[in-house]
Amino acid sequence: MEVAHYLKPKTLKEAYDALLQSPRNVLLAGGLWLKRSTPSVETLIDLDELGLDKIEDEGDYVKIGAMTTLRQLELDPLIKNLQEGLIVKAISQIVGVAFRNSATIGGSVAGRYSFSDILTPLLVLDAKLVFYPKEEMSLQDFLNLKGKLNSILTHIVIKKTRGLSFFKKVKITAIDFPILNVAISEENKKVKIAVGSRPAVSALAQRAAKLVNNASEITDAICKEASQIAVEELIFNSSVTASEEYRKLLAKTYIYRGLKEVLK
Ligand SMILES: Cc1cc2nc3c(=O)[nH]c(=O)nc-3n(C[C@H](O)[C@H](O)[C@H](O)COP(=O)(O)OP(=O)(O)OC[C@H]3O[C@@H](n4cnc5c(N)ncnc54)[C@H](O)[C@@H]3O)c2cc1C
Repeated sequence: MEVAHYLKPKTLKEAYDALLQSPRNVLLAGGLWLKRSTPSVETLIDLDELGLDKIEDEGDYVKIGAMTTLRQLELDPLIKNLQEGLIVKAISQIVGVAFRNSATIGGSVAGRYSFSDILTPLLVLDAKLVFYPKEEMSLQDFLNLKGKLNSILTHIVIKKTRGLSFFKKVKITAIDFPILNVAISEENKKVKIAVGSRPAVSALAQRAAKLVNNASEITDAICKEASQIAVEELIFNSSVTASEEYRKLLAKTYIYRGLKEVLK
């Protein structure tokens, strides 16, 4: 990666002003994906000294700074307690510890990667995103946005929930990218279901969740029907690692198993 200039701003304003100066100026978090995806940049704007690497207890909410590493999240007691450690279940399967010591949650969310194992659990946790300058939106709205991001993600805010959760990453080798992933959250017998790496970016299976949430009794048949609805409402495709049919079969199987697990 060729870098003409390197900047380490001390304030968000300084970082934002630099970002706006040229379409070839780029924000740097852990740098792991950037290094692979971007051959050259004009100014690399390092977010390291902006104090965005904290996980804060805000009463009913947990506020995660964008520069928090995946490893920090994995070890944090607040995150371990959130929805039965759903984020930890997902993050702990990404490459290895040394890698997770560098990769950040902000880089993982801002990149909107179609293979992400992080967006899928964050969607069922109903994560809210905070940007500089002044803007807040749900993760779901952010994933629907098109075009280049011209603001700085500063925090990810998650409501504290203590229900059950399920996460499944299907991969060929232990440290591989996912072929597919499924996250389910449960609170008071109400569920949210998300499927990622289809290979499109993570999305909620809303019709499937509605069927479960409106059922007067949760039966095996309801879980089966919901898993079928989910594969019908979401778009699946083929890639070099898996066919559309295989992804659908995986999604149906793991949504069914996940629902049985969180609704037992
Ligand atoms: C070899 C390899 C294997 C991987 N395997 C997996 C996997 O199995 N599952 C998985 O989920 N992920 C995987 N990832 C992705 C990884 O977990 C991170 O999501 C990725 O590296 C981005 O995080 P980063 O901190 O390195 O961000 P960077 O690479 O520094 O930045 C990524 C992008 O986000 C932008 N950006 C960064 N921070 C901000 C911010 N605060 N506001 C706005 N924009 C910002 C950058 O400009 C850049 O465009 C893998 C990555 C690599 C390199």
